[in-house]
Amino acid sequence: MSEPVALPAFKDNYIWCLRQENKALVVDPGDPQVVLDYMQAEQLQLDMILVTHHHWDHVDGIAQLQQRYPKARVILPATEQEKILARGEAVRHGDCIDWHQYQFQVMAVPGHTLGHLAYYCQPWLFCGDTLFNAGCGRLFEGTAEQMWQSLSSLMALPADTWLFPTHEYTLANLEFALWADPLNTALQPYLVKCQQLRAQNQATLPTLLSDQLRINPYLRAVDPALQQHWQQANALELFSFFRQRKDQW
Ligand SMILES: [Zn+2]
Repeated sequence: MSEPVALPAFKDNYIWCLRQENKALVVDPGDPQVVLDYMQAEQLQLDMILVTHHHWDHVDGIAQLQQRYPKARVILPATEQEKILARGEAVRHGDCIDWHQYQFQVMAVPGHTLGHLAYYCQPWLFCGDTLFNAGCGRLFEGTAEQMWQSLSSLMALPADTWLFPTHEYTLANLEFALWADPLNTALQPYLVKCQQLRAQNQATLPTLLSDQLRINPYLRAVDPALQQHWQQANALELFSFFRQRKDQW
């Protein structure tokens, strides 16, 4: 069983690629050339594309990849299908997708966009722009309550789940986390570790859910002491407060 590989794209995107012998699956191919180059270099045949949401940096490469690999299956969020200029199979919460020996469970995680999906294949979660290392996605379409529910459903997964978000925002997120969660002694050593990875041009992803539960301020909103520190009545209110502050950061 091979591990998903990060193909860097644009300024700070990752296109995750999973391989099975000479077949490949990619998640959110915003840039077709990055994928085509990798397929050629590694002698791979693309036969599956998973899409988390309709934003251009996640979907703009699909049409060109379909031209080159017409047999590749494209899995799209059902409620965002009309916003995505590609043909594919619409899926929704609760659906299962088989790919070779892998099975992906579709989870609805609205908030960043309303139709946003995550794909769970234990122990991996491809979560798009919902949960980042030390951060979470902006609320472009959904409410804070929707996003909080989505994050809560991800927090309920096994703690040893590996998260594969689409962006390398970690260092900026940690700067905010140090402000948001000033008494958290886990943050400084975690920042040093991530700075070392970035200094070597390595991804700070994937990341373990158990680590995010310790250092991600949005998930730490469940902590009563942190709620009290910011004088917020509950987890949802503290989450909303952090999200609003981060938007102005
Ligand atoms: Zn997005």
